[in-house]
Order: sequence, then structure tokens, then C-alpha cells
Amino acid sequence: MEFNLENLVRDNIKKMTAYSSARHEYKGDASIFLDANENSFGSPLPVNYNRYPDPMQWELKTKLSSIKGIPSQNIFLGNGSDEAIDLLFRIFCNPGKDNVLVFPPTYGMYEVCAATNDVTVKKVPLLENFQLDLDAIEAAIDATTKIIFICSPNNPTGNSIQRTAIEILLNNFNGLVVIDEAYINYAKQKTFIPELTEYPNLVILQTLSKAWGLAGLRLGMAYAGKPIIDYFNKVKYPYNINTATQQLAIEALGNILSVNNWTKATTEQKSWLQEELTKLDLIEAIYPSDANFILVKMKEARNVYEYLTSKGIIVRDRSRVILCNDCLRITIGTSDENKKLVNALNDYLK
Ligand SMILES: *Cc1c(COP(=O)(O)O)cnc(C)c1O
Repeated sequence: MEFNLENLVRDNIKKMTAYSSARHEYKGDASIFLDANENSFGSPLPVNYNRYPDPMQWELKTKLSSIKGIPSQNIFLGNGSDEAIDLLFRIFCNPGKDNVLVFPPTYGMYEVCAATNDVTVKKVPLLENFQLDLDAIEAAIDATTKIIFICSPNNPTGNSIQRTAIEILLNNFNGLVVIDEAYINYAKQKTFIPELTEYPNLVILQTLSKAWGLAGLRLGMAYAGKPIIDYFNKVKYPYNINTATQQLAIEALGNILSVNNWTKATTEQKSWLQEELTKLDLIEAIYPSDANFILVKMKEARNVYEYLTSKGIIVRDRSRVILCNDCLRITIGTSDENKKLVNALNDYLK
């Protein structure tokens, strides 16, 4: 069987008519806009937000397009990548019928969005080396499996998933293969963006929330073939990205130098932290990381977590997550923050 997008899309989504907003219908050079029931006088702010934002975010997409080397028509922008994840369920998965595959331990939102949409999640745990279990994945796929979620670099383990394994799934699975590249800026492995022209079933997720330092703005990207992006646009809220976010993101994308410097600093700090942690008796394993966090196996993980919390240092307790027994996930901080963390762990041992 060949990949056929129309076979994957829910019937109600195929049949529906998208909402057509005022700003969608008129494209031209008018100067008086009396079509959207906005307040024509202004906003009670120094900057005017009285006009609805561009529903398709063309200026921002043009900017991203040149940075990422991908045409604007292959980009969907969402309120964080979480919006794209939710839309994937709403477009492709029939509630109560279809299923998706996830590979724990991994990002929690795939499962949360599945539950919201009443879609079954089949879990195929990663192998001990945190790589895909291809035999078990093949066995788990059935006729109603619509989407496979691969997080690479993976959260919370930090490793990249082997490219060849992902390619095997892209070549053999007739549903969608979603690669969540939230941490790609930190990875030695390359993005799958160049592969988009090759695979009509590939969806790539990225975000401005991590390396770009804009978690508070809420801007996530999905890259895919135009037919998939067209469905995203059909189902999304008309004005899903607000004016402030669009303007600030455009400004931020002009500042790629700072981002590259922070990414380098993060990698340096990661090495420093790994070295310092290795010296502690408490630590049993530090897993290799292609991300801006490390997964650390240690004695008394839960106690250490609570001790750190009492010192005002919050890390992520993953000690009861599959394959992460006794593990804490630690985000790489600034040099000062990392030193304080190491000092606190030394104090714990005393
Ligand atoms: C943090 C993270 C995201 C980002 O989500 P946003 O909604 O864009 O903030 C996506 N995927 C993974 C795996 C993450 O860890």
C-alpha cells in the first residue's frame, strides 16, 4: 500500500468548510477597514493592538523560511508546538477508533492530547539504550494506527534517535511520522527538514521555546508537505498567533547570533556540569545528552529532589518514569546556577 493522505484524514475534516475571516477574504491595499468590527479608534496601550493579526502570519513565515530553508507554504505556526500536536489528533484521528504510537519515556503532551481527543495511545518503550524497538513497533502498528510520535533529541533521556531507524519508519509506515525536534539546536544530529521533499508522511515539530529563549511568547512550528499544512490551516483558530507574538518573533529571528552564543554556552556548561557531577558519590550515571538538559541516575533520587527543592532549586523528578528509575532531569542553567546546584549536592552528602 502507498501513502495516501486523503485516506488518513477524518471524513468530517475533509467535508467541513473552514471559517473565513474578514482579514482572510480581503487581500489588497485598502486604507479604511470597516469589515471586522474592531475598535477603529485605537487601544488603551502605547502600542495599538486594535486590529486583528494576520491569520496566516506571512511576514513571520517569510523570515522563518529563509532561516530554515523551507518554503512558507510548508510552515504551520501554532501557540507552541503543543497546538500542532493537538491539531494532528483533531485532523487525523477518529475518536474512539484510531490509535497512535509513542515511545516512552518521552514527552507527555502526545498522550495528553490523545486523551483529550479520545484516541488510544499504544506505548512501545524504548530499548535500554533509549533507541527505537523496531520489531515491537512493527508488531504494534495496525490498520487504525494514524500517527507515530518520535521525539529526537528525546525528552527526558536527552539522546538523539538513530537516523536510520527513523528512515525505516518513514519508508514503511503509511501513516504520519512526526519528529519532534524541540531540542534540535543543541544536537549533533541534523534536522530532518531536507527530507520533507522526499517523504509526504513526514511532519517535523520545532519551537521557539527552548534554544530561542522565547517560551513565554508561545510559538511553535510544524513543517510538512503542503497538503498536510493546508489541513492545519483549515482546522486552526483563524487568529491563533497574536500580533505581539508575530512582531516580537520577527524581531527575535533577526538576532540569531545571540541564540548561537547561548547554545554554545549551554554546551560548555553541560560539559562542566557533567564533569562536576561525575565526582559525586551520589551519581550512578549521567546519560549522554544532545539537548539542554541531562538525565542523571543517582542514589536516593526522590530525597535529593526534595532536598534541592528545600534549597530553592527545582529539577524534574523522573524517578518513577519507565527506564528512568532513580533519575532526575536537570536543565543546564547559567554558570552561577550550575555552581549552586553542585554546591547544594555536595551539602546533601554531608
Ligand atoms: C518543550 C518541548 C516542546 C515545546 O512545546 P511548546 O509548546 O512549543 O513550548 C515540544 N516538544 C518537546 C519534546 C519538548 O520538550
